This record gives sequence, C-alpha cells and structure tokens, in this order.
Amino acid sequence: TGKRAGVIGLGAMGFGMASSLVRAGFEVSGFDPSPAAQDRAHEAGIAPLATPEDVVAAAEVIVLSLPTAAHVEGVISAARDAGLLGADTAAKVIIDTSTSEAEVSRKLSAALAEEGHGFLDAPVSGGPAGAAAGQLSVMLGGDEKWVTAAMPALEAMAAKILHVGPSGAGNVAKLVNNMLVASHMVTTLEALRLAEASGVGAEDALRVINSATGRSAISEIHYPNWVLPRSFDSGFSTGLMRKDVRLARELAQSVGCAMPVADLVADLWAEETSGLKDADDFMHMGDPTVDRLSQ
Ligand code: NAD
Repeated sequence: TGKRAGVIGLGAMGFGMASSLVRAGFEVSGFDPSPAAQDRAHEAGIAPLATPEDVVAAAEVIVLSLPTAAHVEGVISAARDAGLLGADTAAKVIIDTSTSEAEVSRKLSAALAEEGHGFLDAPVSGGPAGAAAGQLSVMLGGDEKWVTAAMPALEAMAAKILHVGPSGAGNVAKLVNNMLVASHMVTTLEALRLAEASGVGAEDALRVINSATGRSAISEIHYPNWVLPRSFDSGFSTGLMRKDVRLARELAQSVGCAMPVADLVADLWAEETSGLKDADDFMHMGDPTVDRLSQ
C-alpha cells in the first residue's frame, strides 16, 4: 500500500483522522454527503471527491468513519458493484473505524479477502480531540497481513494500536469498552447526586474520586472537561452512545451472556427516561443539576 489515503465520512472523527493523515505526509482524498464537511476538508488539504466510489478508486488505504454498520455495508457494496474491489485491482486495505458490528465485519472481510483486498474492523477511542491529534486508541480485528499493510496509516491516526484478534474482535472489544463508558456515566452521576444531596459538592466529590478507587475516564477526563464547565461539547452524540449500548446488548444476546446492569443502563439512556435527544452531546447525561435517573 502506498501513500494515497482516502477517508469516507468526514464528521467529528473522520475529519480529525483525515487531517492526521495529511500531517503524516499522505495524499488524502475524502467524501462526506454534507457540503459543510466537504468544504472544511478542502480547507484542511483533503481533496473532497464527488462520491465514496471516487475515494475508493483514488486510494490504496481507505478509512471509513461512518455512523452505523448499514452505512459501511452500503459504501462497500457500492464500491464492489462499481468494480473497484475486484480481483484485477491492486490490493487495497479498508480500515473501518466506525463502531460497527462484528458479524458485518466478518462478512465484509471474508468477501473482500476472496478478491485479494483487506478489511479491518478498527474502531477507535479518544474522541474528536484524539482524532485531530493523531492520538486515538484503535482496536483491530483481522489478519496480521492486513494489519501490517495498514500500519503506516494507523500510526498516523493512533497512539495505541491494539490488535485484538481475527475479524470482528476489534468490534467486540469496542462494544465492551463503550458499555462500560455508558455505565460509568450513570453511576458517576448517581454518586455525585448522592454527594450533593448529602452536603458534599460535585467538585469536591470528584477530587476525592479521582484520587481514590472510584475513578474512571469519565471522572478523570469527561467531568472536568465537559460537565463541570457546563460546555457539554465532547463531540460524541447521545444517539451514537445509544447505538453502542444497543449493539453491546445484541452481542450479549447472540452469545447468551446475561447483562443485567447493561439492561438497566440502556433503559436509563433511553429518551423517555433521560429526556435527551439523539443529537444532544452525551455529556448532558452527567449533569449533576438534573435528575435524569428517576423520571
Ligand atoms: P458524525 O455524525 O460526526 O460523522 C459521521 C459522518 O458520516 C457525517 O459527517 C455524515 O454526513 C457522514 N456520512 C453519513 N453517511 C455517509 C455515507 N454514505 N458516505 C460518507 N459519509 C457519510 O459521527 P462521529 O462522531 O464522527 O462518529 C463516526 C463513527 O465513529 C461512529 O460509528 C461512532 O460511533 C464512532 N466513534 C465516535 C466517537 C466520538 O467521540 N465522536 C468516538 C469513537 C468512535
């Protein structure tokens, strides 16, 4: 694989990853259906192309940063239908950083392998700030051969590159991680509301938690950066968090793993209980001044 990279989906995460690839010396093209995202890409040295197929045609390494597995399947099948991922095309490697589904990744990876192309499930953690800085954590599922082929691009985008196992393993690891994030949000909120109701302010309680054993990324990073300053702009939407919780529960059902806490967490994140819309930043869930847990 050469130095031509393409990024399909130039949203909160995809734009930052594309910018990191530009900084690392890749020639980068991209596509997003949003004209604003295309304009922003152009200004950052990313060539905005007219269709996702154009991006697949123009690059050897293609990064996907799409909302759901259905979008990923749509983009790949359109590229295959256009004859861009056939056996007569030089090998391409697709790095799917979307939080997607293990079953879908396994299916796509097997279909593309038959034609000599690689598909890695490569979901990420670190938010838009991590994407922009090239400091993501990426969890990979797929063959070593394709991990090696993707490595220069992965190194441009991520500080931690974790090859978890075969195709689908990256998706599993990401869903397990985000299930914990969703749980930490509601349990940390519950703890802070108890502290406040009992006469200890949220800030004081967090100072203690972060010097003690109750801490997590939510208490150490998210509360100080986005909840206590009341900016609520982490760049991750409530809708995407709901997707992750749903996918984790579906995964649990598919393997027969009981998840009583996840079931409750999913209920607490629902719009009817939390009052949050899909477009709201997920940090609103942690607002200690609002009782979102007992509605
Ligand atoms: P986003 O909504 O900001 O960006 C998604 C982009 O995809 C949008 O710009 C949208 O216009 C574009 N898009 C939709 N359909 C498309 C298509 N067919 N072709 C090309 N582009 C298309 O979402 P995001 O926050 O950047 O998340 C992207 C993925 O990364 C999701 O799967 C999400 O779960 C995951 N993720 C997000 C974060 C975060 O903190 N935001 C962190 C880790 C993982």
